[in-house]
Amino acid sequence: MTASIIDGKAFAATVREKVAVHVARLKADHDIQPGLAVVLVGEDPASQVYVRSKGKMTTEVGMNSYEHKLDVDTSEADLLALITQLNNDPAVHGILVQLPLPDHLNEDLVINSIDPAKDVDGFHISNVGLLATGQKSMVPCTPLGCLMMLRNHHGSLSGLNAVVIGRSNIVGKPMAALLLGDSCTVTIAHSRTKALPDVVKRADIVVAAVGRAEMVPGDWIKDGATVIDVGINRIDAPERGEGKTRLVGDVDFAAASQVAGAITPVPGGVGPMTIACLLANTVTACSRANGLVEPEGLTV
Ligand code: NAD
Repeated sequence: MTASIIDGKAFAATVREKVAVHVARLKADHDIQPGLAVVLVGEDPASQVYVRSKGKMTTEVGMNSYEHKLDVDTSEADLLALITQLNNDPAVHGILVQLPLPDHLNEDLVINSIDPAKDVDGFHISNVGLLATGQKSMVPCTPLGCLMMLRNHHGSLSGLNAVVIGRSNIVGKPMAALLLGDSCTVTIAHSRTKALPDVVKRADIVVAAVGRAEMVPGDWIKDGATVIDVGINRIDAPERGEGKTRLVGDVDFAAASQVAGAITPVPGGVGPMTIACLLANTVTACSRANGLVEPEGLTV
């Protein structure tokens, strides 16, 4: 079997288009412009790239983008004061604090100081609890993007065996909660899981979120399974020239695509969906804040 490719880049473009339509409607019908504030502490180069591209895509869909760049030695009190200011600002509907934060800042404290209604990353403990109990919440962007792709590919996920590899708070655990919400039979595998190949082999849906280059070989995958590869790993690519690198996922794409029914590539799979879902969450938050109907298909 040769897997069909789930094109996250193309799907993300359709999500952004839906967001743009809803943003235009909010402006035309209600004179409301959604706004997303992104807070970056320090000068981590990867974080700077993410923040820049988030800002660009935010304005491309017609929303206001507010960037707050703080010095690496910003005190916790100053950061919390900024978050309070953003919590109280009616022009700001979504707040994202770019992680990781410098060591002297308490990440949990900072995240939990964000108004849960504006917590477009879905990391606030209230949103974690709401998702875990199947209530309306802000859903973390990466798992939300994975779920959108799975629903789009399968229609109903009810009764399917899903294995999530990785139990992080930002991907693995919320992913498992979402799949459970869609009535999958869910297994969470992790670094201590025994007989991982056998566990994965039972899965109709595999979500790999580990951060280890190509650790899932093709022969772990059940015939016809759907594989969502969240991992982003940079490896040496001497075939491209000296010192060159390339990105790969947590799954051996070439081998798995001989067995799977469908698979996301890296790059071009989950990555683009994550930012699209951040925009989707912002427009959802804005609609909720104004007591308006939420855009369809942009949240769970
Ligand atoms: P993490 O380091 O917080 O968690 C990794 C998880 O993998 C842990 O729960 C650990 O138990 C598990 N694990 C480690 N070794 C294992 C093994 N040998 N077998 C089975 N499980 C093992 O990572 P994270 O933040 O969840 O991110 C995972 C990957 O996803 C990373 O590559 C990250 O860059 C990527 N990521 C991508 C996006 C995106 O937008 N595409 C977003 C977030 C994270």
